[in-house]
Amino acid sequence: MFKFADFHCDTLQNICLGQDFSSSNQTGHLDLPRLLAANYIFQCFAAFFDPALGQEAALRQTLRLLNTARESIFSLPGVRWVKAAGDIQAAKDGELMALLSIEGADFIGTDLFLLELVHNMGVRLITLTWNGRNSLGDGVRAGSGGLSNIGYKAVKAMEDLSIIVDVSHLAEMGFWDVCSAANKPFVASHSNAWTICPHPRNLKDEQIREISRAGGLIGMNLCPPFIAEDREGQSLPALVRHMSHIAAVGSVDILCLGADLDGIEELPQEMEDVRDIAKLPGLMEAAGFSPKEIQAVCAGNLLRFLQENLE
Ligand SMILES: [Zn+2]
Repeated sequence: MFKFADFHCDTLQNICLGQDFSSSNQTGHLDLPRLLAANYIFQCFAAFFDPALGQEAALRQTLRLLNTARESIFSLPGVRWVKAAGDIQAAKDGELMALLSIEGADFIGTDLFLLELVHNMGVRLITLTWNGRNSLGDGVRAGSGGLSNIGYKAVKAMEDLSIIVDVSHLAEMGFWDVCSAANKPFVASHSNAWTICPHPRNLKDEQIREISRAGGLIGMNLCPPFIAEDREGQSLPALVRHMSHIAAVGSVDILCLGADLDGIEELPQEMEDVRDIAKLPGLMEAAGFSPKEIQAVCAGNLLRFLQENLE
C-alpha cells in the first residue's frame, strides 16, 4: 500500500470560505478524512490571495490566511505541523504531517522583515511570484524580467531563515537568477515538463537539469492544461509521461507530487477527488517505475528533502 505526500494544494481558500477541513465534504478536492482515506501522510497548504489587490491588501489577506490555517488545519488533532526536520521524525502512524507555505510573495513589498514575521507564524516555503509581477520579480504571465534587487535579497533572507524557495510560476529569467543566487536547494513545487506539454508554467529540460544539479524537487501538477494541450490527452497516464521524462532528463530523486488540488478547476479524466490518486502507482508501474521508485516519488523524496533542508 503506497503512501502519499504532496507539495501544493489551495484548500486553505475553501476553508476561509467556510469549508470544515476536519469533516468529509461533498465539495472540494480534499479534507482531512479524505486525505487519510487516500493514505496521505503529508500535505503542504498554500496561502494564496489575488495579487491584483495590491501589497497592503496582500499583506492583510496573507496574515488572515495564515491565522485561519493555524486555527482550522494545523491545530487539529491528528495533524502534525512540520516546522523542522525533527517534526518528521516525530510523526506517528495515522497522523497527517502538514507544511505551511505562501503562494506569491506580493505581501512583502520592500519590507523584508516580513519574511521573519511569517517564518515565526510557521511558514516554511514561499513561491516567489504567482503569474503576475511583484516586487521580487516577474511571473510567467507578466513578462520576461528576472529577479529584482529585492528578489535577490529575499532569496538570501529566505535561505538564512530556512524558508524553502519555490520557483513555480516564476518567469524563466527569474528562474536562472534564482540559480545564480541560491546557495541551498530550491524547488518547483507544482510544475510539469515543457517538452511533454509546452505550457509556460512547465519547466524546460535545462531547468529540470538545473534543479536536479541543485538537489531540488519538482512537484507533479494535475492541472489538465499543464499535462497535455488537448482534453483527450489530459489523463493520469500522460502525467506519468511527464514523470518518466523528468526522471530521464534529471533524476527520479527530484520527483514528487504537487497536485494543485483545490487550486484547479478541472482534474484529469480519471479523477474526482484526492482519493483517485490511488490510480497513479499502477500507471507508474506500467511505465517501468520500480515499487521503490514509486514510493519515492509518491512520498519518500519529498520527506527526505524536508528532512535535509528544514532546520
Ligand atoms: Zn500555483
